[in-house]
Amino acid sequence: MNRRILLLGGTTEALRPARRLGLETVYSLAGLGRVPAALPCHVRVGGFGGAEGLAAFIASEGIELLLDLTHPYAAQISHNAARAAEITGVPCWALRRPGWQPGADDDWREVDDWDALTRALVPFERPFFTSGREPLAHLHEIPEHQHWTVRCLQAEPAPLRAEVIGARGPFSLDEERALFARLRCDVLVSKNSGSASTEPKLQVARELGLPVLLLRRPELPVVAREFAESESLWEALQQRL
Ligand code: NAP
Repeated sequence: MNRRILLLGGTTEALRPARRLGLETVYSLAGLGRVPAALPCHVRVGGFGGAEGLAAFIASEGIELLLDLTHPYAAQISHNAARAAEITGVPCWALRRPGWQPGADDDWREVDDWDALTRALVPFERPFFTSGREPLAHLHEIPEHQHWTVRCLQAEPAPLRAEVIGARGPFSLDEERALFARLRCDVLVSKNSGSASTEPKLQVARELGLPVLLLRRPELPVVAREFAESESLWEALQQRL
């Protein structure tokens, strides 16, 4: 059977079309997180083997449209998608969610990578990491004066002076207020995902006057059509179907 749409997903925004499109669509996941149950489309889990592998899949499945609804920090798959679109001549549409913008009361500091983040964290004692799994690889390096809390999709045992919370957004403002109060964190670490579902933590940091260390967004490729929010992408998709 020819599948007309290849939807690269793994985000909350990708789930909406994945729940509405039928078997003509392949919903593709890297396989790092939970695979959503009972989707009406075909679900495929795992990498393609780079841009060439993705292009080969597009050709063999008769894909006519590539949708990149991956996370803004999942830059590799977005570059692969743009390259595969060039190779195959199949258009690529992408959700390019704008990043969050600081307000007048915000103390946001952008850092380029893990090393820069570590240096920026030195003055603090209780960082709260909401930036994915990367801190888990560094739990043995926690400075003597710090206690780390890491929130990511899956909890795991933590050493002394650390707590790993397994949780999946969306997170409400009240939940975040209660969590910040329990943790007594003095700095928030985040990616600038721009997602409404994880934005309340920034409001709480603002209320408490906490600095926010943001990992810089990666550069993403330009593709045939780009949408700033999922609603306009969905409308364009319906017009095309
Ligand atoms: P990535 O670095 O862009 O991708 C690495 C490889 O994983 C790709 O080259 C591809 O393998 C495979 N892959 C990624 N997304 C795929 C998809 N939808 N379908 C099939 N294969 C896929 O992305 P990442 O490793 O997933 O994550 C990179 C960063 O983004 C991390 O910092 C992570 O925290 C963040 N992220 C966040 C969310 C979220 O919060 N919802 C989701 C995803 C990623 P092949 O080259 O073999 O095709």
